[in-house]
Amino acid sequence: MALNVGCTAPPGRARENRTGSWRVFLPRFDHEACSKCGMCQLICPEGCISETADREFVPDYDYCKGCGLCAEECPKHAITMVQEEK
Ligand code: SF4
Ligand code: SF4
Repeated sequence: MALNVGCTAPPGRARENRTGSWRVFLPRFDHEACSKCGMCQLICPEGCISETADREFVPDYDYCKGCGLCAEECPKHAITMVQEEK
C-alpha cells in the first residue's frame, strides 16, 4: 500500500474542525471560586477559553475537546471535569 508523505491544511481548517465533537468529559467553571488569573485561557491547547465582559472565563464547547488541562492547572480548583451527556 502506498502511503502519502505529509499533508496540507487549507486556511480556516481549525475553525471548521469542531473538536468538541470528540469530547467525553467537559469542564464546568465555578465563577465564584475563580480568581481571574487567566491560566486556563493561557494553557488551553484549543485556544477556546475566552474572558467575557464580566470577567468570567468560559470555554467554547464547540471547540473544547475535554482534555482537562484547564482543570488540572487551575490554581483555585475552579474547574471540574464532568461526564459528557450526548
Ligand atoms: S485558571 Fe481557574 S482561577 Fe484562573 S482564570 Fe481559569 S478558572 Fe479562574
Ligand atoms: S478541557 Fe482542554 S480543550 Fe477544553 S477548555 Fe479545558 S484545556 Fe481547553
